[in-house]
Formats: sequence, C-alpha cells, structure tokens
Amino acid sequence: MSDTAVNQSPLPVMNTYQRFPITIVKGKGSYVWDDNGKKYLDYTSGIATCNLGHVPEQVHEKLSNQLDLLWHCSNLYSIPPQNELASLLVEHSCFDQVFFCNSGAEANEAAIKLAKKYAKDNGFPERTEIVTFQQSFHGRTGSTMAATGQEKIHKGFTPLTSGFRYLNYNDEAALDEVNNGTTTAVLLELVQGEGGVNKAELDWIKKLSQVCKEANILFMVDEVQTGMGRTGTLFAYEQYGIEPDVMTLAKGLGSGFPIGAMLAKENIAVSFGPGTHGSTFGGNPLASSAGIATMETLLNENILAHVTSTSKWLNNQLEELKEKHKLIEDVHGIGFLIGLKLTAEAAPYINEFREKGVLVLSAGSHILRILPPLTTTKQELEIFIQLLEEVMTDGRS
Ligand SMILES: *Cc1c(COP(=O)(O)O)cnc(C)c1O
Repeated sequence: MSDTAVNQSPLPVMNTYQRFPITIVKGKGSYVWDDNGKKYLDYTSGIATCNLGHVPEQVHEKLSNQLDLLWHCSNLYSIPPQNELASLLVEHSCFDQVFFCNSGAEANEAAIKLAKKYAKDNGFPERTEIVTFQQSFHGRTGSTMAATGQEKIHKGFTPLTSGFRYLNYNDEAALDEVNNGTTTAVLLELVQGEGGVNKAELDWIKKLSQVCKEANILFMVDEVQTGMGRTGTLFAYEQYGIEPDVMTLAKGLGSGFPIGAMLAKENIAVSFGPGTHGSTFGGNPLASSAGIATMETLLNENILAHVTSTSKWLNNQLEELKEKHKLIEDVHGIGFLIGLKLTAEAAPYINEFREKGVLVLSAGSHILRILPPLTTTKQELEIFIQLLEEVMTDGRS
C-alpha cells in the first residue's frame, strides 16, 4: 500500500459520507437518541424518509406480522403485499401500473429505461435523449448521476453515461429547447430537494407539461423526496394541476424500510414486458408491507391535512423571523420541505442546532433544509422556532 493513500475513516466502511460527529442508536416519533443517551428533535427525518416519525406503530405492526410469514420469495412468483401496495398507489394517483425496486436511484433508472424503450416501441427511434435540469438530483448510479445536473456530482466520473441534456430550471427559454427532435422524455423534481429547495413555478410546469404533451415527449417527475405527503398532498404533482406520464418514489414510501417505485400510465407501462427489467429484492414481501402500512397511515390518519395547515403556520413564523433577522434571506419550499436561505454558510448553524438538541440539514452551502416528520406536533414546531430565534440572535447575525 502506498503511504500516500491515507484512509480518513478509522472504520472498515468506505469514507463516502461526511458524517456528523454523533452516533444515533434509537428513535421514536419526532426524536432520536445518541449513544450517550442525548435526545434530539429530528428535523431531518432521515432525509425525508421517516415521514411518519421514527418506528411508527402501524408500520411496526404490519412488518412484525410479515416477519413471521415470509421475507422473500423473488419476483418469480406473485407477491400479495406487492400487489396490494401497487393497488393502493394506483388508486391514489393518476398512474396505472407500478414497478418496484429498492431506492430512488433505481426508480429513476427504471424511468430512464422505460423512456428509451417507449421511444423505440412508438416509432421514434431517433429519440434517445432525456432532458433534465440544472441543480437537479436524481441519484448516484451511473445513469442517475449523469441525469443529475450538478457538476460537483460528475467530477471524477467521466466518461458519463450519455443521453442527458441539461436545461435551466424555471426558465421560459428552456421550454423552446425541450423538443429538438431527439428528446424522448423530460425528468424533473417539482421541488429540487438536494439542489437548494427550489420550487418549480406553477405556470412554467403547466407550459412544460403542454410542450411535452404536444410532442409526445414523456413528462416524468422524480418525487423521491417530494412524494409520500412531504408537500402536504400525497404527491407534489397534485398541486400543479397536471398529470405526469411517469413518477418515481422511494424515501418516504417505506418509512425507513428500503423500497422504491416507478409508476406509469398504462400506454407507457406496456413497454416494460417480460424480460425488459427486473430486480431481485424489488417489492419483496417485507418492503411492500412497510409501504402498505405507510400508505394506509398517511391516508387514514388525517396527516396530509395536518401538514397543510401546520406548514402554513410554520411558514408565517419563518417569514416573521425573516423580517426580524438579516441572517434569513429567503424562505422557500412547500409543506414540510423547507429551505431557509441564509446570508451566511449554513454549516455552523447546523452544528449549533445539533449541540442544542435539534437535527437539521443543508442543501448547498447557504440553505438550511428543514424536514420535520409529517407527524410533528405544533408544540414541537414551537420549540424549534424558539430555538431558531435563539441561534440567530446568538451573536452570529
Ligand atoms: C434522494 C433522492 C434520490 C436518490 O435516492 P436514493 O434512494 O438515495 O438512491 C433521487 N431523487 C431525489 C429527488 C432524491 O431526493
């Protein structure tokens, strides 16, 4: 081994993550505990994943039952919980069929493959490109990294998978560049999560959707972060008055149990016939059970209405703080996907929050990203707002 190859990590785990200096060992509801027994209000929700809070009882119960029954049998056989979850998703969305996988990147990989196959099956063999947007995030696999419109994520990994073209988000001029004769699909987030909590403008999305419809270009939304109630509706597209052709889900779908899904309208889904795509684990009995319980809880327990009303109140509080403190430049996002644009770097504030018992995230250098569990209470949010004010007046702003 060359003595210049220094492993920064003392662990036999690859050093791909810049980790915060705490170790979380337990979670319940809106809270997690570290290995010293310190309790934190978790407003990262495992990066928009534990939408029902940590270890939600309904999911715990369903998983426990399935643990005694069957863990895995492969997709060589029909899997009842998978069928049930697909039915629930289809019943509560504009889509007709579902493909199951294990992560957000895999769901986007499936969408990318489907878009290519759709073009070939429908007499557009020259359509080999997919349009994505600057500042987007679609995953870390070969194709989804290439689909991601951020140079820092591509760095060191050329040659990139070809076939992606990046346009400017929320840009009128981009609308004219979508249909250049080689585009089979557009893939985008309705709120760019990792890229800075940038919300797509309603009018721009309507026009983009129309451009796609007229040219038979697939309109594919990556709802890996915005889906499963995060924005106050089950899926963010509902708030835009559009019907996408394809949608991808992961993060919140299994409440922390790994599962991803790609949903499509029937005329598009038919391009995925037997042998075209697959996954060993995708939609296995355990993962699907977690998905069913998550969907049922979101739908039956008034959680979406809670997010809508509470996030309105929260937004007002944040706007008030913005008026009082120069540190907050802007408040953006929808529902419980919130970005506070700061006039300074976010990292020191994230550390200060953690020391005071609250976990929050960043999205780029100057954005404080706040992702409360959808089940967080008004009291918890009040504690957070109080602490935010305290942190901001702590001699830093
Ligand atoms: C997190 C995320 C992904 C990637 O999901 P993984 O499960 O980490 O592969 C893709 N798209 C968006 C919008 C995401 O937020």
